[in-house]
Amino acid sequence: MLAEMGIAWLPGLVGAQAAAASAAARPVASPAAQAAAPGVVASPPAAVPAAARAPASAPVPLSVPAAEPAPAVRTAAPEPTLAGPVATLDWASLASTVAGCRACGLCEGRRNTVFGVGDRQAGWMVVGEAPGEQEDLRGEPFVGPAGQLLDAMLRSLGLSRSGGGVYIANVLKCRPPGNRNPEPAEVASCEPFLRRQVELVAPRIILALGRFAVQSLLRTDEPIGRLRGRVHQYQGIPLVVSYHPAYLLRNLPDKAKAWADLCLAQQVAAQAQAGSAGRPTAA
Ligand code: SF4
Repeated sequence: MLAEMGIAWLPGLVGAQAAAASAAARPVASPAAQAAAPGVVASPPAAVPAAARAPASAPVPLSVPAAEPAPAVRTAAPEPTLAGPVATLDWASLASTVAGCRACGLCEGRRNTVFGVGDRQAGWMVVGEAPGEQEDLRGEPFVGPAGQLLDAMLRSLGLSRSGGGVYIANVLKCRPPGNRNPEPAEVASCEPFLRRQVELVAPRIILALGRFAVQSLLRTDEPIGRLRGRVHQYQGIPLVVSYHPAYLLRNLPDKAKAWADLCLAQQVAAQAQAGSAGRPTAA
């Protein structure tokens, strides 16, 4: 089905076997995309978190763009803080708190809250924007054709929402009516849940997908095209920006750019993994 959609995500930097397979059947997007990745130039390694994870693949010793401070601050939404009980909740308490949350008006129209799915000790965390109709029905992020494309993208990295290595969540846990853009107040109400999820997962890399998620996390109004190809930070964790799979389904030529984004994210994750592996442990 993905091939019918013109989509062929294959491993790019996931080890020697994958590299050999990739050389034999590289997706149309990958070589050009890597060469064309904007701003991907040799530079000092990005700052990385100390989160220790079991290696999923051999580290890839590559240079990546240096981490940059968050772009221009957007004034519409205040910086959320993990105040109150959310900051100390464990997974079970956090999930039940979200399930019963009525902190903003989006609770009125939801059928299910969409908490998150995947490996809660993952090295990768994917963050999307808000549930759509299918997500609202099933209570799971990224389902339907866009979810299938995301799963294919993740498979190219050796990751799977059911098999481990990645945790997937949205900025908002409830569906905005008619899939409208969320209001800044709704984001401010809901983002502490995501921030706590990020704290609990402590991933090596965050991949932010789609304009709304990217702009919400980075607190900027800059378009994705200007934010791609660089390493940002969210709660001290490297963050790479890319397009939402639903957008890619409508704009297939941009798969090349998305492939470049995945390659960048994998480089950053590999460097983080190598850094944590070389860090001395407490006696
Ligand atoms: S969107 Fe977030 S803050 Fe609003 S009701 Fe749902 S869980 Fe609560």
